[in-house]
Amino acid sequence: MLRLKHELEPGRALFGELIEPASGERLDEVVVLYFQKPHSYTTDDIVEISAHGSPVVLRHIVELALERGARLAEPGEFTMRAFLNGRIDLTQAEAVRDLIESQTLYQAKVAAQQLEGALAKRLRPIKERLVNLIATLEAGVDFAEDDVSVMPPEQIVARIAEVRQPLEALAATFGYGKVVHEGLTLAIVGRPNVGKSSLFNRLVERERAIVTATPGTTRDLVTEPVAIGGIPVRLVDTAGIRDASDEAESIGVQKTWEAVAEADLVLMMFEWNSESGMYGHLDHRLLDNQDLMIRTKDRNRLIVGNKSDLRTGQKGTLFVKFHGAGEMNEHVHETSALTGEGIEELRAAIIEKVSGHGAGQHEAGFLTNARHQALVRDSLKSLDAAAEAVRMRMPHEMILLDLYSSLRQLDEITGATTADDILNRIFSSFCIGK
Ligand code: GDP
Repeated sequence: MLRLKHELEPGRALFGELIEPASGERLDEVVVLYFQKPHSYTTDDIVEISAHGSPVVLRHIVELALERGARLAEPGEFTMRAFLNGRIDLTQAEAVRDLIESQTLYQAKVAAQQLEGALAKRLRPIKERLVNLIATLEAGVDFAEDDVSVMPPEQIVARIAEVRQPLEALAATFGYGKVVHEGLTLAIVGRPNVGKSSLFNRLVERERAIVTATPGTTRDLVTEPVAIGGIPVRLVDTAGIRDASDEAESIGVQKTWEAVAEADLVLMMFEWNSESGMYGHLDHRLLDNQDLMIRTKDRNRLIVGNKSDLRTGQKGTLFVKFHGAGEMNEHVHETSALTGEGIEELRAAIIEKVSGHGAGQHEAGFLTNARHQALVRDSLKSLDAAAEAVRMRMPHEMILLDLYSSLRQLDEITGATTADDILNRIFSSFCIGK
């Protein structure tokens, strides 16, 4: 039972006491907040009770509320209500989930921008152009009795291109957005002692985890995740490539290949070799390096030359040529895990490599979500179909079908038109009842 000093008043925090009904004993002090509709998270009337955080007391409060007719929220139910009541759009609802799940401050910032409607804002002018084009063509369809076109085909194609171009640019941001959202799996491979662990320790930022929601334990801290440029990084531990070639099929080597296979990015690491005067030992006896070069050829990879502090003589851009692996000229990123030289540059190169063209677009709203990406892609496809229909001199009714389809895909992103099953899927992916 709650005992309050005053009547509930909208927007005012009230001090109260939690009383055990049977004994009349005080269990906790609480603060009670009343959000009067529509000025609440969901736009419904909402009362929030804050207690000191003892799990038993919290559970007790919930039980008392349930006894009096309340029920537990479904996963994402509060946010779903906010969406259904029209306070936020679907991208904002998804941003709440992303914010809750973010592991780095940077991810949280990106989610917060989306929560402010960054993506919807970016989509708005694109949709406006599309709607204008549809309206113009509709007017033509309604009024043209004969085959006289309201707009010459070239102009329609040009207008479609005006919609297509910014949409294509948005689609291209997903490379970066996906990495920001999902994090990055990084494998550092190389022979023992080249400095893999030292480099990894240099590369990562240790960020304190933001409280991460896992079912039942919303207050648990996750183990401190590491990040590069605000992007969570999972390092795939590699056993390293062994020296002797007869060990080529050893478990360690096998594991390295597996690590390489599942990584988003492979750092192929060599150390400066004073004897040979180059990074790595690229002679015929050491097939493993070449083997590795061949096996990672089609992978996202960077070549790292570590222990650059040992390298005397002139420094400059280095390229390596791997004879055994065919003609492969690749830039070597020189680093010294010891002195820190080249680390900043390597970090930037990693982000650049995994983010494609989308890096640096943080302010403008970018795609971080596979659902959005798929819809933008479909929308583009419909635009292409429309342009093709124009070129084929199809009737405007047919062109309009494609344009409407393109618009519908964009509407689905913000949730203007979204089927129930998709909504259910989105909101049930919330791991808490927020
Ligand atoms: P790993 O076996 O590839 O993980 O290599 P480690 O990170 O354990 O490093 C092997 C040795 O090389 C250690 O003694 C490091 O201190 C040393 N080392 C690592 N990076 C550098 C570097 O950039 N310069 C120099 N001079 N030594 C390094």
